[in-house]
Amino acid sequence: MISLTKAATVVCCAAVLMSCSGSGGKSASGAEPYRVEFALNTICVIMLYDQADNDVYDAVFARIHEIEQRMSAFLPDSDISRINAAAGIAPVQVYDDVFNIIQRAVKFAELSGGAFDPTVGPITALWGVTGDNPRVPSQQELDAVLPLVNWRYIELDEHARTVFLSRRGMSLDLGAIAKGYAADEAAHIIREAGLARALIDLGGNVITHGVNLAGVPWRVGLQNPLGERGEFVGITSGWDMTVVTSGVNERYFIEEGERYHHIFSPFTGRPATTGLLSTTIVTDASMDADALSTAIFVLGYEKGSEMLAPLEDVSAIFVFEDKSVSITPGMSFQLTDTSFHLVD
Ligand code: AMP
Ligand code: MG
Repeated sequence: MISLTKAATVVCCAAVLMSCSGSGGKSASGAEPYRVEFALNTICVIMLYDQADNDVYDAVFARIHEIEQRMSAFLPDSDISRINAAAGIAPVQVYDDVFNIIQRAVKFAELSGGAFDPTVGPITALWGVTGDNPRVPSQQELDAVLPLVNWRYIELDEHARTVFLSRRGMSLDLGAIAKGYAADEAAHIIREAGLARALIDLGGNVITHGVNLAGVPWRVGLQNPLGERGEFVGITSGWDMTVVTSGVNERYFIEEGERYHHIFSPFTGRPATTGLLSTTIVTDASMDADALSTAIFVLGYEKGSEMLAPLEDVSAIFVFEDKSVSITPGMSFQLTDTSFHLVD
C-alpha cells in the first residue's frame, strides 16, 4: 500500500487504493513500480507495477503538467487565466482540449441545473479555501458576485475555438473536473502503450486499468470523511472503472470553530450543505465522474439521485452526516467501518 503524507494545504484523496499492495520490485525495464508527483494542486500517483516503464511515466506526467499549464486558474499564462482576464472584453482562442473540457463542463452544468457550474470562480476566489489565506466573505461580497456565476454566460465558438465570458468579473474554475480529465488522459496514454495493468490516483480521482497482479477485481477504499486519510468507510470493487469522490474533508478551513469546505452552492455562494459528507461516482470516464460527484454533492441526495437515474453505467455512494451510507442498487460495495450503516 502506498503511504503518502499530506501536503500542508492539500487535504485530499477521497479514495485510496486497497488492493494490489503487492506492487513488487522494479520491472524488467528497471523502472520503479510507481511514480508520484505533485501536480494539479494535488498528489498524483501512477502505478504500473511489473509493467513499469520510465518512458510511459514521463509521457503521463508530461501530459498531466501540460493540462495544468493550460487549465489552472492560478497560472497567469494558462488558457483559463487568459479567458478570465478577458471576461466581458473579448473571446479568447484556446487549445482544443481546453475548449472540449469547457464544452463538456457546460453540458454538466445544464444537466445539473447549475449545481455544477464552471463559472464558480468569483465565489472560490472570495473564500480562498485552496489558497493560503482562506476567509469567510461578507454577505455583501457574496451578493456582488452571485450574478456573475452563471454557465449560460459562457459563449463558445466551436469553429473559431474561442471562449468568451460575457460579463466583466466572471471567471472559470475547472477544479471540479480537470483532475478527472487528466486521469482519463493518463489512462489513454497507458492503454496506447499496451500496458496490461495500471492504477491512476490523482488526488482521489482513481482509475483502475486492466488485470492487477493478484488477478482479482480491484478494490478501492472509500475514504472516511470523518477519519484520517486511509481510513475507509468501505470498499468498492470492479475491473476497469473510475472512482471519484467529492467531500467536505478534501479541502477546508476552520474559522471561529466553524468548518468551511470547498464545494460551493452556486446559488448561495456558500459551502453546500445538503446533509452530506461525501459523494462518490463509479463509472468509466473520470471526467464525467468528477463533474457528477461535485454536482450531486451540491444537489443533495434526492435531487442528485434524480439527476443520475437516467444515466447508464453510473453508480453512486452518498455518505451522510448522520453516518448513514446509501449506494446505488446493484453496485459492489462492502461496508467495513461499522460505525457507519447502510440505508436504502
Ligand atoms: P471536487 O473536489 O471535484 O468536488 O471539486 C471541488 C472544486 O471545484 C473546488 O475546489 C472548486 O475549485 C470547484 N468548485 C466548487 N464548487 C463548485 C461547483 N458548484 N461547481 C463547479 N465547481 C465547483
Ligand atoms: Mg468533481
